Amino acid sequence: MNGLMQGKRGVIMGLANDRSLAWGIAKQLAAQGAELAFTYQGEALERRVRPLATELGADFLIECDVSDMGALDAAFDTIAARWPTIDFVVHAIGFSDKNELRGRYYDTSLDNFLMTMNISVYSFTAVAKRARALMPNGGSVLTLTYYGSEKVVPHYNVMGVAKAALDMSVKYLAMDMGPENIRVNAISAGPIKTLAASGIGDLRYILKWNELNSPLRRNVTIDDVGGAGLYLLSDLSSGVTGEIHHVDAGYNVIGMKAEDAPDI
Ligand code: NAD
Repeated sequence: MNGLMQGKRGVIMGLANDRSLAWGIAKQLAAQGAELAFTYQGEALERRVRPLATELGADFLIECDVSDMGALDAAFDTIAARWPTIDFVVHAIGFSDKNELRGRYYDTSLDNFLMTMNISVYSFTAVAKRARALMPNGGSVLTLTYYGSEKVVPHYNVMGVAKAALDMSVKYLAMDMGPENIRVNAISAGPIKTLAASGIGDLRYILKWNELNSPLRRNVTIDDVGGAGLYLLSDLSSGVTGEIHHVDAGYNVIGMKAEDAPDI
């Protein structure tokens, strides 16, 4: 399967460190010959992102806070100046005040609700729109969501509401951009201990629950997510758009906890 992404180039948004879901995806894209650019949020993260990018042979790094539309415009102008066309974009970005990722959903403040929706939902649409302008020959756009958008997961709160809106954004964008052969999909990843996930209350319990109750009886890794990312960003998935693809060891199909699971 070597060279699946040969001749393709794209942008990875949301790499923070080597535990990021974006890293799992970037590694597999690079291994298949993709040329990558990375955006990062602020100088502190640049120090972590630059060596990782170098490891994958990438030297194209752009600072971009996605809550700032001016910064997004500038980032895509910078990309366009070096790469007149791109083939894919990965949006692996989400943020909420961690004080509201615990306790009751009804305690969500208006300010945090709006900020969470802005950074975790609207930014995807804003990115897709700007990426589209660089995809005259079609392309693939990918975001990351979580099961808390479909069912209530303790502590996920406003982020679950935001992910529900993100899931629908995927479908509306798929419809908008389908005629231009731009595909829009999401990976719904099972819980993985990353910087962002560490802000969620009782993450250890969520991880243990998923491990014990998933059909595969394990948690997923960033490499599992990377494999699915490669599929959705490559021509292997040329007929797939508007899809919320679960990479969660099968957890989403479970309706009831299995007692004495090893015996069934
Ligand atoms: P991470 O902390 O490694 O990545 C989150 C990224 O979001 C960071 O790079 C951060 O800089 C970026 N970000 C936050 N606010 C930003 C802003 N204003 N502008 C630009 N970038 C900003 O954590 P992760 O778990 O890899 O998260 C990536 C995506 O995966 C998120 O959308 C997250 O909700 C989603 N996801 C994570 C899990 C999980 O369990 N870790 C499961 C399903 C979905």
